[in-house]
Amino acid sequence: MTQPVANDFIRDLIRRDNEQGTYGGRVQTRFPPEPNGYLHIGHAKAITVDFGTAEEFGGICNLRLDDTNPDTEETEYVDSIVADIEWLGFHPARLLHASDYFGQLYEWAELLVGRGLAYVDDSDPETISAERGGFGRPGTESAYRSRSIEENLDLFRRMRAGEFPDGTRVLRAKIDMQHENMALRDPVMYRIRHSHHFRTGDDWCIYPTYDWAHGQSDAIEGVTHSICTLEFDTHRPLYDWYLAQLPLPGDQPRQIEFARLELTHIITSKRRLAKLVNDGTVDGWDDPRMPTLRGLRRRGYPAAAIRAFCSEVGTTRTNSRQSIEALESYVRRELNRTAQRRMAVLAPLRLVIDNWPTDAAGEPLVEYFEVANNPENPEDGTRQVAFSGELWIEADDFAEVPPPKFFRLSIGREVRLRGAYLVTATSVDKDEAGDVVTVHASYDPATRGGDAPDGRKVKSTMHWVSAAHATEIRVGLYERLFTAEAPGEATGEPLDDLNPDSREIVTGKAEAALATTAPGQVVQFERLGYFAADLDAPGLYHRTVGLRDEWAAIQRRKG
Ligand code: ATP
Ligand code: MG
Repeated sequence: MTQPVANDFIRDLIRRDNEQGTYGGRVQTRFPPEPNGYLHIGHAKAITVDFGTAEEFGGICNLRLDDTNPDTEETEYVDSIVADIEWLGFHPARLLHASDYFGQLYEWAELLVGRGLAYVDDSDPETISAERGGFGRPGTESAYRSRSIEENLDLFRRMRAGEFPDGTRVLRAKIDMQHENMALRDPVMYRIRHSHHFRTGDDWCIYPTYDWAHGQSDAIEGVTHSICTLEFDTHRPLYDWYLAQLPLPGDQPRQIEFARLELTHIITSKRRLAKLVNDGTVDGWDDPRMPTLRGLRRRGYPAAAIRAFCSEVGTTRTNSRQSIEALESYVRRELNRTAQRRMAVLAPLRLVIDNWPTDAAGEPLVEYFEVANNPENPEDGTRQVAFSGELWIEADDFAEVPPPKFFRLSIGREVRLRGAYLVTATSVDKDEAGDVVTVHASYDPATRGGDAPDGRKVKSTMHWVSAAHATEIRVGLYERLFTAEAPGEATGEPLDDLNPDSREIVTGKAEAALATTAPGQVVQFERLGYFAADLDAPGLYHRTVGLRDEWAAIQRRKG
């Protein structure tokens, strides 16, 4: 599945390790999400890097759930993570949990205590934080730093046995309170939390921190290259320090950092995404406006497009924000190839062809036109589309008083109804409010198929739906969930930039074939864009993307 990808610094590092035989040529990575939310487009980038890199070097990648924080983690999230990775097209070699190593981590912590490399600190969190100092400000050693090994061991065991309430003590590594790297100023290894863990139940009331759990879990599993995001850059010396103290079962893994994927008009903070869900700002984690894989999937984003975007956008050590239009461009490219074409009218206006013939029974005649399902892919075949004397057209395809350069339908103007006939508008009916409710037209029977035998040209081709054959659809039209390109840039709070009008739901009329669209199938509504059939609700569609490639225009502007 993986295509040859441009070289990047991660691959260069692995290649060098392989040449030097560092891990005996072995490559093993892991994707380590915390099961406290649903995966989003940023995770897709990490997944592509973790799984893609391993696969490329003939190695393996495990899924490890980093479940060290019992208060925020749930099985629901684990299940969704497993399913979403599969949906994206990757297959973990094994499903593992950091909580599987709680016993080993505890033993190793006792080992460090026993060697005078860790101590129990009774200070409150504020004191610990204040004593850490800051950039250019020295740290202060805790009053508890010089406890004896015996006292530390005793207190640590009693912490584990549940003798102390939450927050009253922590276990800290004894490294260097003056270290220029703050991460090495006696970092916390364990905190007391009398909470039920979704896997280990009530077995533990002390839980390891990310830093204490992560590198050790990597080592236990045999990870060679532990790829993470740039904010862990300054934690690498700590990652290495812990591993260097311990009797590891194998080689010491190497941590490699890359820049997070950020996109314009979206946020990827799970905490804030959870807030949108809990506030009811969106319908759920799988709302089509959400940047979650669930949301993008419901919106109609093909997994292949997300994969291609993530691997081609490049992996660097420089933070930047990619244009959402670039991602949309990958989506459009994929859908142009795969999506069948249909006709649907989202703001229906009645068009009556006054000279349309009736059949022997006095009913309006029905004609069928054979239409290609996807001109880009002849294998998709054709379908029959019904046409008759009463049609739906888009309201904005008609103007009673056409403005300059308006070439669509108006009184006296001839246009093409796609694939059917040329028609000319003749008059309108209005309701009491003065709004046009029906446009009357006449058609030219000699133009069957949409072309005039005398070669006369029309300036517009419009889509249409036969009223007698139409199926009703509801369509979600989405705008950006955040108005600002960089949400939160102005005020520091991304949620301040929420777009209050990010969704409009309209009722439209569609050709009969739409009644049988499969859940999740994406089709192109001609002239309107790509639309995904909802995964659950029949007759509901979500606008995936429009037809115009704004990314191409953005790149042209940049020159
Ligand atoms: P949050 O801080 O919102 O909880 P996180 O980074 O802690 O997010 P995790 O679920 O712990 O999220 O991350 C799992 C993996 O995905 C980590 O290796 C993390 O670095 C990576 N990841 C998360 N967000 C992004 C992103 N925007 N771009 C690239 N990788 C990401
Ligand atoms: Mg996290």
